[in-house]
Amino acid sequence: MNQPVKPGRYWHALEDGRVQCDVCPRYCKLHEGQRGLCFVRARQGDQIVLTTYGRSSGFCIDPIEKKPLNHFLPGTPVLSFGTAGCNLTCKFCQNWDISKARDLDRVQDAASPEKIAEAAVRTGCRSVAFTYNDPVIFLEYAVDVAQACRKQGIKTIAVSAGYISPEPRIEFFRHMDAANIDLKGFSEGFYKNLCSGGLAPVLETLEYLKHEPNVWFEITTLLIPGENDSPAEIQAESAWVMDRLGSDVPLHFTAFHPDWKLTDRPPTPPQTLRQARRIARDAGLRYVYTGNVHDPVGQTTHCHACGAILIGRDWYDITAWHLSADGCCTKCGTRCAGVFEADEGRWGPRHQPVRLRVSERELSSN
Ligand code: SF4
Repeated sequence: MNQPVKPGRYWHALEDGRVQCDVCPRYCKLHEGQRGLCFVRARQGDQIVLTTYGRSSGFCIDPIEKKPLNHFLPGTPVLSFGTAGCNLTCKFCQNWDISKARDLDRVQDAASPEKIAEAAVRTGCRSVAFTYNDPVIFLEYAVDVAQACRKQGIKTIAVSAGYISPEPRIEFFRHMDAANIDLKGFSEGFYKNLCSGGLAPVLETLEYLKHEPNVWFEITTLLIPGENDSPAEIQAESAWVMDRLGSDVPLHFTAFHPDWKLTDRPPTPPQTLRQARRIARDAGLRYVYTGNVHDPVGQTTHCHACGAILIGRDWYDITAWHLSADGCCTKCGTRCAGVFEADEGRWGPRHQPVRLRVSERELSSN
């Protein structure tokens, strides 16, 4: 390895001479020179190191609705980046060119935490998002970026599958302001067969976030025809969210398109998304959305008390805004759950690439 590495914080030596990574429930047990399943954490000497510290697959400014987050600083621009690798192996991965990247061949840009925070300020972003691949696997880098951002008044957002072990979970989310957790399906069989993972640790993460008051979080489920889109499974997921997390947690049902190793399934029919939204609302959830389709009704936020439109949306465009400066319905005064500024952001649907390259020496000194 000739790229800069960062010592990992969660690992321990085993009696048989291997070293176990403790970041995620895979608990990879590594011999000298081996990499974990995520590919970016590796054994080097007697420790586990992160090989993608300061490395990015590219920076873009996105609308925050694209993460998706509908109740966290709506309409604002977010500086978004990912690295390489992933700790799940989803056959339907929609970002497989990044998550399956090997030897950092997809790494296009590099930046220290301070440079990222400065870039967010300079470009008028209100937040930085760790996205495109799962930030759990680059925890040490994500936490340093989050700390640098807090010093500049910039929020940080984790877009994650929530597949993380209990101890690193505490450190990781302590530094985040918001998260979108990808709840990929609602059965162990789905996680096992399509992601080679497990559902239980993800539900633990969601319940942990419910009791972590400093992190605003929303949930996304990508509906795949014939795999996780049955009314019974959606009903079970919605009832669990209602029971364990409460009615205020936004739930997004988004459309699948054939990708990576799951190309024999059709795209999700819009009707399936609308039906899922209906089931979840009937279960008592107040804020349920459809995504990746043209559906202004399914993307609009309504007041749960009087039914008035609070935030109208069409894809990533804000088309109406009827929230008071303190986040209440302008018609009946009921508070809407979320984190809002006095006015909506005006970034719109733009997706703007940004270059942040810095020297190898600067990265090595971090
Ligand atoms: S973070 Fe990577 S190396 Fe660590 S246990 Fe998970 S997959 Fe294995």
